[in-house]
Amino acid sequence: MMRQYELVERVTSYDPDADEDMLNRAYVYAMKAHGHQVRASGDPYFTHPLEVAAILTDMKLDDATIAAALLHDVVEDTEATHQEIEELFGPEIAGLVDGLTKIRRLDLVTKEAAQAENLRKLLLAMARDARVLLVKLADRLHNMRTLDHVKPEKRARIAQETMDIYAPLAGRMGMHAIREELDDISFEALYPEAREGIIKRLETLRAESGDILTNIEERLTEQLATHGINANVTGREKKPASIWRKMQRKDLSLGQLSDIFGFRVIVDNLPDCYRALGVVHTTWRVVPGRFKDYISNPKQNDYRSIHTTIIGPHRKRVELQIRTREMDDIAERGVAAHSFYKDAADPMAAERGVRIQHGDSNAFRWLRSLVESLAEGDHPGEFLEHTRLELFADQVFCFTPKGALIALPKGANAIDFAYAVHTDVGNSCVGCRINGRHAPLMTELANGDEIEIIRSQAQTPPAAWEKVAHTGKARAAIRRATRLAVRDQYAGLGREILERRLARFDAVYESKLASEAFRKLGVASLDDGLAALGRGEVQVRDVLMALGFNADDKKPKRDVRQTRRPASEEGERTIAVRGVNRQLPLRIDPATGAVPGERIVGILTRGEGITIYPIFSAALQKFDEEPDLWVDLAWDDDSLDDLYPARLNVVLHNEVGALGQLTQTIAEGGANIENLQMTSRARDFYNIDLTIEVEDIRHLNRIINELNRKPLISSVARATGEA
Ligand code: MN
Repeated sequence: MMRQYELVERVTSYDPDADEDMLNRAYVYAMKAHGHQVRASGDPYFTHPLEVAAILTDMKLDDATIAAALLHDVVEDTEATHQEIEELFGPEIAGLVDGLTKIRRLDLVTKEAAQAENLRKLLLAMARDARVLLVKLADRLHNMRTLDHVKPEKRARIAQETMDIYAPLAGRMGMHAIREELDDISFEALYPEAREGIIKRLETLRAESGDILTNIEERLTEQLATHGINANVTGREKKPASIWRKMQRKDLSLGQLSDIFGFRVIVDNLPDCYRALGVVHTTWRVVPGRFKDYISNPKQNDYRSIHTTIIGPHRKRVELQIRTREMDDIAERGVAAHSFYKDAADPMAAERGVRIQHGDSNAFRWLRSLVESLAEGDHPGEFLEHTRLELFADQVFCFTPKGALIALPKGANAIDFAYAVHTDVGNSCVGCRINGRHAPLMTELANGDEIEIIRSQAQTPPAAWEKVAHTGKARAAIRRATRLAVRDQYAGLGREILERRLARFDAVYESKLASEAFRKLGVASLDDGLAALGRGEVQVRDVLMALGFNADDKKPKRDVRQTRRPASEEGERTIAVRGVNRQLPLRIDPATGAVPGERIVGILTRGEGITIYPIFSAALQKFDEEPDLWVDLAWDDDSLDDLYPARLNVVLHNEVGALGQLTQTIAEGGANIENLQMTSRARDFYNIDLTIEVEDIRHLNRIINELNRKPLISSVARATGEA
């Protein structure tokens, strides 16, 4: 335990004017007041306020703050009263202790409304005198450092509260070191397995890259020295909690995790920051898009630094922060450092009896404006929203039409929003209104947006959404829904196959009988059975036998050309085609291509799924005798942004520039050329076999029309697949 004189010495070392007598009295008073009380760890209780005071001496805070830290728990936990504290230590310290006592009575992890009210009280208490905030953060830090001794249920609650409120608050105040430590300890308490996984991965990376830290440190220092820059380079690994957050934000897996080394280059003065940057950028390859100049553009919490990322030794990405000593101090200690510097720069302050000025730091200005807004807003929910908005800058907060708050990571869109509300809402989502206006579902949401999700029960989420969703929750739900939808499509197909065969025996499909038949074949559920039939894993012949029919009895006899009519006329099931790169093995016949808007049919190929043909395809003739293989297909309305292939036969004049005219026209038309081959060349003309990718039939026709208008292009026609 730190001795009384040690603590006082620490304070006087950075503040020679500190009131030693007052500090001594506070030490003795708190020690006596806590008496024989013990903490969960078994240590004397007084070790806690003492450690809190010690943390604050590291931040070089004034004597009143240190005294308040020593006394912060006495009113709540001992016989001491507010009045007594005021008599003994004066109104300034009593005011600080009072603020801290009030905060202790707040329970921040409660129902939304209560939480809002309490968070508001917390900020009010802290904003009256910002030193209350500093003591509170130090108090929480020490409690987190000794969290192991707390009972598990309580531990989780405290860790959650720390992660949700205190860590962001420390960050918002620019106190990076405290933020990081609070974050890491709560992460360990809440997600021990995730943390373990990250630590393992870090070990692997460390083993792969050898002594990369020292290596870079040395090379950097050396390089900078040759250019006459005096710099202190320190490298470190990122903390598991910040890596985890990054993985979540960018949706990275552990295996993709590479960006783990951070270096700090501390130089003597501001011009050296930029000179150092120049040296770094000429020595190593720079990762584009990662350069940020927070020196000319400081963050709201006063943070100043240059950030850049380079490809270092072993091709590892290395983040660099370049700044001066003073900037570093502010980066680490935030408002605490800021007020100290302000103080030193203002000799009049001491004369006026003001030892610490909080008013001029950006972070405190933020806190004050937040508190001012409290005076107006008497709606606690509204206040909570506002505060959270400010606290969590990397999130967006949106509202349902009923005013419920939905928090999403930055970059999230209406699809994420829908899934955040409820999986069913996401799955049935077909459109949205943002702030009352229709908007595309992919629109990136902004803070305060009100989103109304338009739903349709007929909807299943397109698989392509998985790529556009930001949140893991949405992606997982889309994958699940897609899997089910695919199974349903197969089941629909299986049922269609079965119904057609039964019709030949003048029998109708009955789910009860089918169910039994599948059970005989060893398939547990009807849906699975039908899906297996649709996939070709179960033969329709076997199902018929299980139903008691002699499958070989009735050979197909049917004019297949007649089956090509809109499915609705006969009430048959139509399979919706919604892009081809999906789990459902649909492939487009490459001999012709097929694009949305044109009539298509599918041919079932055992074990390979369904091949899509445009109705004019010559290849369909060979399936005329096999009606069982025909499947009605229709393009789904929302074939999204996919492109579809169409094969064309083009005849060009054999003149210079003809090929250029062809490719240019296609490019101008917004289509891709997937394949281009010269098939034959005569004296005057040559034939091109061309596959282009277009959005739909209108897009295709537009391009064909454009091509036909070009003087060097003789003719353009759709390939029919005829040899
Ligand atoms: Mn405490």
